[in-house]
Amino acid sequence: MQAQRAHGPGQALRWETVPVPRPGAAQVLVEVSACGVCRTDLHLVDGELPQARYPVIPGHEIVGTVVARGADGGELVPGMRVGIPWLGHTCGTCFYCEQGRENLCDAAAFTGCSRDGGYAEYCVADARYCFPLPAGFDDVAVAPLLCAGLIGYRSLRMAGDARRLGVFGFGAAAHLIAQVARWQGREVYAFTRAGDMAAQDFARRLGAVWAGGSDERPPVMLDAALLFAPVGALVPTALALLRKGGRVVCGGIHMSDIPSFAYERLWGEREIVSVANLTRQDAVEFLDLAARVPVATSTQTYVLAEANLALDDLRQGRLQGAAVLICRPSAPMAQQLGAQP
Ligand SMILES: [Zn+2]
Ligand SMILES: [Zn+2]
Repeated sequence: MQAQRAHGPGQALRWETVPVPRPGAAQVLVEVSACGVCRTDLHLVDGELPQARYPVIPGHEIVGTVVARGADGGELVPGMRVGIPWLGHTCGTCFYCEQGRENLCDAAAFTGCSRDGGYAEYCVADARYCFPLPAGFDDVAVAPLLCAGLIGYRSLRMAGDARRLGVFGFGAAAHLIAQVARWQGREVYAFTRAGDMAAQDFARRLGAVWAGGSDERPPVMLDAALLFAPVGALVPTALALLRKGGRVVCGGIHMSDIPSFAYERLWGEREIVSVANLTRQDAVEFLDLAARVPVATSTQTYVLAEANLALDDLRQGRLQGAAVLICRPSAPMAQQLGAQP
């Protein structure tokens, strides 16, 4: 099969022919139709993820069809459409798993990072970490829900009942979660790079009551702020906009250093928290919610061979919404499997 592989920090992905993987007992083989491009994939390419193992096929917003299964493949059968997110496996027995916090599992596997992901024509996944997808979304539209949506949702939940919600970095996660927040009756205040009028217009179209640069102040104090931009300097910036008792939620897996700031900014029981990974419960809840809102996804598509271009457009801020790779195999599976021992 054709796949894009990361061979080490700082190297562009390589377009390669590799064997179609075979599912283990508790796994399924999925023919990938679409795979979203996440900022985490940039961190993988840049060597900023300690969990990564190279070479690895990136991609953890995978949409595809089950084509084969191991003996313990659960309820998944060939022909079912499934989504495969970042959390690929957990141990079920560590301190965190036993507390229902499997997102913090000490022995977790991460799709497209510590195991191969979806920048490929096929991938294998643990059956218990694959999710049926809501029927109202086509394969491209549903892909960004699987990380941008899920991490965004977990971040939003961390904001508690905050009504006035600041959102920093109006990209893939923000454009999805702003719609959920508005549907829940919250007010969204969108912060973009200074002077990025296109992103500010995009935020207003998605229901933000205010949009401006991250160097601007909204007209009200915020109850909480969600940070999706990987810029540590935004933490003290956001803190300064919060009312007492407010919370800054850092939604990214990697962020530049947070500069020091006066204790006064944190005083008043303000909090800073991070969001790590997701749980399967998050996926079940969010996919149901996304269908009920319903969340509209804004996507820009690329063929699988153009993965480096998609990553570059994300890095340069040239995207509105989310990039999605179209991954359908060029040759039937029987033919590809026939080429293997
Ligand atoms: Zn565990
Ligand atoms: Zn992601």
